[in-house]
Amino acid sequence: MFDRIFIEQEVKDLPATEKILRTFPDLPITEIDQVDKVFGQVKKPYLQKRETLNLFLGKKRGQLVKEAPEAYGAAGAPHYYFVHAYNCIYECQYCYLQGYFHSPDIVLFLNHAEIAEEIHRVADQHPDQTVWFHAGEFSDSLALSHLSGELDFYFDCFKKRPTAKLELRTKSANIRELLKLEPAPNIITSFSLSPDKASKHFDLKTPPLKARLAAMKALSDAGHPLAIHLDPIIYQPNFIEAYDQMLSQLTNQIDLNRIQYISLGVVRFTKDVYREVRNNYPQTSEFRGNFKTSFDGKVRYDRPTRMYILNQVKALCSKYGASEDQIYLCME
Ligand code: SF4
Repeated sequence: MFDRIFIEQEVKDLPATEKILRTFPDLPITEIDQVDKVFGQVKKPYLQKRETLNLFLGKKRGQLVKEAPEAYGAAGAPHYYFVHAYNCIYECQYCYLQGYFHSPDIVLFLNHAEIAEEIHRVADQHPDQTVWFHAGEFSDSLALSHLSGELDFYFDCFKKRPTAKLELRTKSANIRELLKLEPAPNIITSFSLSPDKASKHFDLKTPPLKARLAAMKALSDAGHPLAIHLDPIIYQPNFIEAYDQMLSQLTNQIDLNRIQYISLGVVRFTKDVYREVRNNYPQTSEFRGNFKTSFDGKVRYDRPTRMYILNQVKALCSKYGASEDQIYLCME
């Protein structure tokens, strides 16, 4: 998977680093001072991730926990995200990471104790509220969890703070590490789902829908709380039938009443990402036409189209047993 490992001197003797190095005993290693001084310093095309990727191990510096954008999660609660990785092994065509970093190389930050300390500090600022913390803002929370090995650490952190909630966002079916852990009511694994055909077309290299549903079933049977993101929904002429079929498959395995929340969102891009997407995937007709710069500077379908799509998918969720208060609209 990787060509070379770059390791910050400060983390080279950590047990987590040693474990990762044991996984790749033959890879060349370069010691560096700080990830940020090397990662992305020379622009590397996003699609080069198909051929070569480097792995960076280091410490996250700067702001470790950040306030999430408005309408990011369920309304009425403060939402934050923390960053313990950059980039992803999957290749979703709409992924905003392609316009965000100058490199698709994978970075794993290993200073989890400092990140947890900051999570506690931020949660302390909201003594009377349930505070949400989201992992996976710049990566997938589970795809490399067998390698990065941080899940047990964050489980310990949030079990000590039951009034805060942790969301692990994923498109992966890599649940091996999660299944080793005792479930906690405040730690929710949320799966992004799209109909099978759409997923094969847009979510390159991700596990097929069937594998994600099987992973959800295994986690649900083990008692782990789950959530669903039907996001991004991409308009295609048959999208209603496709989402109907997907929700039928899902509810054949899992009762929607056992899903903590369902977020619905329509595809959207920053201007930079939209430019990258069109350059990287010129053959994808679904990302041409019909898009406009919206109220917040993002590129989206116009509002009537978005509302039509969201209302149709929301009605389907209701048809399959979701209640009104389980569903929220993301970034609307
Ligand atoms: S799974 Fe998420 S982070 Fe990974 S490529 Fe897809 S959209 Fe990007």
